[in-house]
Amino acid sequence: SLAGKTALVTGSTSGIGLGIAQQLAEAGANIVLNGFGDVAAAQAQIQALGVQAWHHPADLSDPEQIDALCAFAANECGGVDILVNNAGIQHVARLENFPPAQWDKVLAINLSAVFHTSRLLLPAMRARGWGRIINIASTHGLVASSGKSAYVAAKHGVLGLTKTVALETAHSAITCNAICPGWVLTPLVAQQIADRATQQGISPQQAQQDLLVEKQPSGQFVTPAQLGALAVFLCSPAAAEVRGAAWAMDGGWTAQ
Ligand code: NAD
Repeated sequence: SLAGKTALVTGSTSGIGLGIAQQLAEAGANIVLNGFGDVAAAQAQIQALGVQAWHHPADLSDPEQIDALCAFAANECGGVDILVNNAGIQHVARLENFPPAQWDKVLAINLSAVFHTSRLLLPAMRARGWGRIINIASTHGLVASSGKSAYVAAKHGVLGLTKTVALETAHSAITCNAICPGWVLTPLVAQQIADRATQQGISPQQAQQDLLVEKQPSGQFVTPAQLGALAVFLCSPAAAEVRGAAWAMDGGWTAQ
């Protein structure tokens, strides 16, 4: 049980982050939510599970706001035992058309934010003698797709950072691992399905089917609840020696 522990899940007002927050809360952890959109609904959903739920609105593209988020979690929420770096954005364009400002933003949120939260929260984990850092990478941390240069570069970077932090914490009860999800039907992917339908003049249903068939042998989406269950496992004593892993849950995508 994770009762009495506090988990900070970045980007947890929607999609995968919310699913992971839910599963950690079901296991008993108090949750620090972060992200935009329907904050009240996310907070109510977590509180309904009988744990405490806070929210901090930090924009993770801004290191100063990450400082504020980590200080809030440390000082107002009893400290962070479990850090889930989940916030992420996508931008799709071929390299020669990729807007440099979008490159910087994807790298800042998907990669640099993981560095900042980890460096800020590790000292207290070391002081407590226990911790879990779980980075939500992607199959795009392991393989590429065209049009996603910034995302693929950032996610490959997350796996490198994960391994380094795992080594630097190897002699402690702190572990650092990455989860590499395949397609999950969240707002981030719904946007890509909509764009695909528009560009190719096909129905959204056809676009969704094509998207799965192209990459994911199962033909099924991975769910936020399945990813949340994996996160709960990585927090368990059974996973104490899982260190620096890039754990795929991708319907067979990277088995090909
Ligand atoms: P989503 O768009 O549904 O949710 C993203 C969350 O991050 C939201 O809570 C949003 O408010 C928050 N967020 C966005 N920008 C932020 C910022 N600047 N600062 C703070 N919070 C911010 O996306 P998702 O699909 O649930 O993706 C979550 C993570 O999973 C991302 O890292 C993504 O790369 C990764 N991922 C997603 C898929 C997929 O198929 N959906 C697959 C592999 C990996």
